[in-house]
Amino acid sequence: KSLKSGLSKTRNALSSGVDALFKGGRVLDDDLLEELEELLITSDVGVRTTMEIIETLSEKASEISNSAELKAALKALLLERISFDVPPEETMKKPHVMMVVGVNGVGKTTTIGKLATRFVREGKKVIIVAGDTFRAAASEQLTVWADRSGADIVRHKDNSDPAAVAFDGVQAAVSRNADIVIIDTAGRLHTKKNLMEELKKIRRSVSKTIEDGPHETLMVVDATTGQNALTQAQLFHEAVGIDGVALTKLDGTAKGGIVIGITSTLGVPLKYIGIGEQADDLRPFDAEEFADALL
Ligand code: GDP
Repeated sequence: KSLKSGLSKTRNALSSGVDALFKGGRVLDDDLLEELEELLITSDVGVRTTMEIIETLSEKASEISNSAELKAALKALLLERISFDVPPEETMKKPHVMMVVGVNGVGKTTTIGKLATRFVREGKKVIIVAGDTFRAAASEQLTVWADRSGADIVRHKDNSDPAAVAFDGVQAAVSRNADIVIIDTAGRLHTKKNLMEELKKIRRSVSKTIEDGPHETLMVVDATTGQNALTQAQLFHEAVGIDGVALTKLDGTAKGGIVIGITSTLGVPLKYIGIGEQADDLRPFDAEEFADALL
């Protein structure tokens, strides 16, 4: 699936929306800017960012006379807000230990499966750790993904201690000389405090074997939940600290503007975007590619 088709709902809303604004020979005046403001807010660009963009565009209004020019200006303004430096992959430790966190239902299991597929294809030896011992279905699903992708899986009995599974997973990674360990974690938010404590315990358990691990905490959020995705990410970031975000289900929403909120408000890089249910439908986030696919 191409990025463009994966983002078609947001693309249609934004791109066709901008085209529609100029119908009937209109010019970029205050009325038109007000409609654009609504369009951006409906796409979940976020109120503050939308205001900044509208203000900049109103200063440049004399240079913009049609929808193509407006799209180009808009694209440049969006790009400014979603670009950041990604640390180079060479810095990965061996094994590189990655903890994946997020609320149930956001696509965490699927994202782990997709990541495992990607890393195995790159020739890496991958171990998936079924750290959500609370949900039997999660371990089952991860086992399917592990078989399909060619990754190893480490799992314990249901309801066992997640920190103990993580410990074993990391030990296995060291003894099997694995490149990457991906640790799944629970996501039952109704016991928020316990959950955060559990995540911290997993982390301590990893560091018993690998002093500076986990090296990465990736948070998975669901784009279709709009601003809630941002709130969830902020919550986890405050509680346990995250190093990156994977934003799933962008194919299922016209509110892809949430990417701007995630990148500009959170202060944590958006590392991956999910644009479908298949193994290939996870892409490293590339700001320019994204802006091109959107407008
Ligand atoms: P978890 O509870 O967070 O582990 O969620 P799952 O990985 O089980 O995913 C929940 C549902 O979302 C499943 O039906 C997945 O196929 C679906 N899903 C995950 N990622 C994406 C995505 O990027 N696009 C779409 N359309 N569906 C997705």
